[in-house]
Amino acid sequence: MPHSKHGIRLDLRTLILVLCALTALVMLCASYFASYRVQRQLLIDHALEANRVYAMKLASITETFISNAQQQLSFSAGVQGRQLGDAKALLAETDRVLSQSMAFNSTFVVDANGVLLAVSPAPLRHLVGNRVHTPGVQEALNARSPLVSTPYMSAANNLVVALSQPIFDSDGRYLGYVGGSLYLRERNILNSLLGKHFYKDGSYLYVVDRNRRLLYHPDSQRVGTVVEGNALIDQLAALSSGTRQVTNSQGVEMLAGFATVPSAGWGVVAQQPLAQTIAPLNHLVLTVVGTSAPFALIGSLLLWWLAMTIAQPLWQLAAGARSMDRAGTAERLHRVSAWYFEAAQLKRALLFGLNLLHERIGRLNRDAQTDPLTGLGNRRGLEFSLSLLEAEGRPFAAIVLDIDHFKRVNDNHGHEVGDQVLRRLAELMRRCCREGDLLCRTGGEEFLMLLPGASVDVAAVVAERLRVTVQDTPVEPVGAVTISLGVARWDVETGGEPGYVLSAADRALYQAKQEGRNRVVIA
Ligand code: GH3
Ligand code: MG
Ligand code: MG
Repeated sequence: MPHSKHGIRLDLRTLILVLCALTALVMLCASYFASYRVQRQLLIDHALEANRVYAMKLASITETFISNAQQQLSFSAGVQGRQLGDAKALLAETDRVLSQSMAFNSTFVVDANGVLLAVSPAPLRHLVGNRVHTPGVQEALNARSPLVSTPYMSAANNLVVALSQPIFDSDGRYLGYVGGSLYLRERNILNSLLGKHFYKDGSYLYVVDRNRRLLYHPDSQRVGTVVEGNALIDQLAALSSGTRQVTNSQGVEMLAGFATVPSAGWGVVAQQPLAQTIAPLNHLVLTVVGTSAPFALIGSLLLWWLAMTIAQPLWQLAAGARSMDRAGTAERLHRVSAWYFEAAQLKRALLFGLNLLHERIGRLNRDAQTDPLTGLGNRRGLEFSLSLLEAEGRPFAAIVLDIDHFKRVNDNHGHEVGDQVLRRLAELMRRCCREGDLLCRTGGEEFLMLLPGASVDVAAVVAERLRVTVQDTPVEPVGAVTISLGVARWDVETGGEPGYVLSAADRALYQAKQEGRNRVVIA
């Protein structure tokens, strides 16, 4: 990872990867959450509807039961109306209704004054002849019509609901009523109808009358009590069926469906705990995660590959930019596959910049190794050439030359003319050598020629040719000048540093000067 003086700097590849990972994570979480919400709502809606349908079913069963029971009592009221004075017959009829219908816990006949004329079963018979003051009896006497009573405490101290049918004589005079009671806190037809069902998962059922009093509840202690503060029960009066999410008396969130029993004004409520309804969701979410994990993995790998492919050219270009000064950078930049616009532009710009840089450096190098007066190599250029020759191990010959009595030229004609002579000599040197030979001006009017691969003889021939050429080529206004030359040769066998060869050639030159100038001496 690239560093800067401010610490670690993130690279594009890492940034893209982090971006991709974050995006994938957010998308996955969002889809898991969405599927969780949708499934949850589906489960809730389904449970609410199932409870509503169930409550409706039970309400209709209850309705059927009540209307059957009322019909039986209505028939019995006709029979009893004709035999009110016959205690035995009355009793026989109450027995018949009790045993035949199985609908009631007790059956009885009450006259218009509230006196009990007959009652079944037998253990209650001691009450016959008594005037009964219970609220239920008063309610029936007041109503003088078919009735489903509100729950009340009976004369035998049972919490009951009584169904009743009035008795009229042929003139339409009210004579009393026949009734059948259900003992709410004991086994009765209502809890045989309702109680058998539906007792798993904390689901349960209850029934209230129109005054919100519980007629049936799995917790029998609560039967007969009034339900307070339940919004659902408030709705019962207005709707024939419906659903609602409520909190029960234990503070548990419940999904309830309800329906009413029209003839009695009762409400049947079927409900189940929210928590249990949505319990399968955890498993469901795990399944969703499990199912989608391979796809998420493949997607992530794809993203990773894509991020790599996008970042790769920029990464390579950045590496190139960091090593502009190193060899081989241009080749490496050329190899970068810049497959999209920005990368291609950057690559172009980098290559352009690199070329420019190399050109500048090349020119500076050349300038630094060139003598400005003659355009030959200077001492630095000579050293560079020597090091190359040494590295290659290539033999070479060196010719050192110096203008004879040059001081006089300067003295007689001036420095300007002297310079002109120097330039002219350089030109003649160029003319006398081959391509690949290296020419240098090593001092004021001292020159050097390196002849790679040349033998001493060849070098001697070249030196002699140059001497003659110079001698025969007059320079205006000086006239002819002469030069003295020293020749030496280096190869790997003779050993030593190539620099020593120059000393040997220098000595030969000195000797040439000593021997009278305008001559070649071979070391
Ligand atoms: P010799 O035959 O012994 O070589 O005699 P010389 O006069 O040439 O003696 P030397 O080589 O010592 O002379 C060097 C002279 O070259 C001194 C200086 O006046 C002249 N000189 C050196 N550099 C330059 C230059 O760049 N331009 C000019 N015009 N003259 C130079
Ligand atoms: Mg000299
Ligand atoms: Mg000289």
